[in-house]
Formats: sequence, structure tokens, C-alpha cells
Amino acid sequence: MIINIAHLYPDMLNLYGDRGNIIALTERMNARGIEVKTDAITMGKSFNADDYDILFIGGGQDFEQDVLLDDLKKGKDAEINKAIQGGKVMLAICGGYQMLGKYYKTYDGKMLEYMGALDFYTEGKPERMIGNYAFKTKEGIEVVGFENHSGRTYLGDGVEPLGTMIKGYGNNGEDGTEGVRFNNTFGTYSHGPILPKNPQLADLLISKVLENKYGKTELTPLDDDLEEKARKQVFKLYIK
Ligand code: GLN
Repeated sequence: MIINIAHLYPDMLNLYGDRGNIIALTERMNARGIEVKTDAITMGKSFNADDYDILFIGGGQDFEQDVLLDDLKKGKDAEINKAIQGGKVMLAICGGYQMLGKYYKTYDGKMLEYMGALDFYTEGKPERMIGNYAFKTKEGIEVVGFENHSGRTYLGDGVEPLGTMIKGYGNNGEDGTEGVRFNNTFGTYSHGPILPKNPQLADLLISKVLENKYGKTELTPLDDDLEEKARKQVFKLYIK
């Protein structure tokens, strides 16, 4: 089995080690005998989403999100949209998550029109939402993460949240939601990165990828003793 990952804008959107998500996916698939290839899809490089099984986009600052906008609209937006609607697995973090929505109005009034692949919008405020946080997915996975954003995201009816808040701000600090979920697309504010800290979530994505490409596949359990100890420590220190 071989899985191909497209890493969008790895040189521009990589806050707080977001590329660790690719490493976690790769290591957890390699440990199960699955080969993984990752291509860097940078500015100026076109790509066809059909060539990939997973799309990944990290977070960035308002500045990078603005700089990328022209490039995004030269065709990458249509490919990403096609992948999302077609049920490919996609993980988008913070600034990258915001770019899947309709628009991001920055705290200083700049309007960034995004691709509108998903039904939500984001508006910034000067007070940033920062800290360790936790939320629970519909499968009952308690995810720990770290957030640092000015944007407040408001979901429309066409999508569901990735989780409900246990502690922290999440999408907007008001409605108790965190991130977005639609088909096999997962958007979240969690940097840090999220997948090495939350192996159950990493395996949820991997099982969806394998199901897409090879039909339902049982995942061999891995030894997550250290990861679980780390998660419990984060909960103890910051969450409960
Ligand atoms: N620029 C966005 C915000 O501040 C995203 C930041 C990030 O990716 N951490 O809301």
C-alpha cells in the first residue's frame, strides 16, 4: 500500500511545527507497513488533487495568508475544493483552516476573500485567543492542543464542528465549538502539532485514507504508552 500526501505551502504555513502532523501520519503508516510519499506544493507550483490521498495545510500569520491569496486563486483553490467535495482526507490547521472558508476579515479591517469550499467565515479581533486547550470529537476522542489566533470562526449550517470545547476558546470563544468537519476534511485551530499529541485522531485520519483507497482496513494497534502519558500530563497541568 502507498499513500501520497500533498503538503500545501510548507515553507509559508508552518507555525509551531505543524509539519509534525505529516511526520506523525508517516511514522504511524510506516509502522503498519504502508509506504508514504509527500510532495511539497509551494507557491507557483500547480497540482492535481487526484494524484494525492491526503492534503495538508498548516497555519500562518495574517501576513502569509494575504501573500498566498493570489497563488491560491490560480487553480489550487479549485483542486482543494474538488478534493474536499470528493471526500478526500484533508487536515487544515489554524490559518490554513481559515482559508477553506468564505473570508477572513483581519482585526485591522483587511478583507481576505477565500475559496468558500466550506460554509464558514472568520473575523479577527485585537485580543488573541491563546493557550493550551481541549475538545471532544463526536467519536469521543478528547483532543489536547494549543491555540493562538485572532480570528473568530463562525460555522454555517452546511458543516459540523470538529469538536465541542472542554477548555479554551476554539472557534470563537462563544459557542463552544472547535474546528470544522465535512466529509473527510478536518479543520482545527490546534497547533503544536495536533496529531503527534493525539494518536487516536491520527489513526482516525489514517483509517479514512485507507478506506478511501483500499476499502475498510483494520489498523494494527501501536504502542502509544508514551503518547498517552504525555496527554495525561497535559490534561493534569493545563486542562482539569
Ligand atoms: N492569522 C490567523 C489568526 O491570527 C491564524 C493564526 C495561526 O495560524 N496561528 O487568526
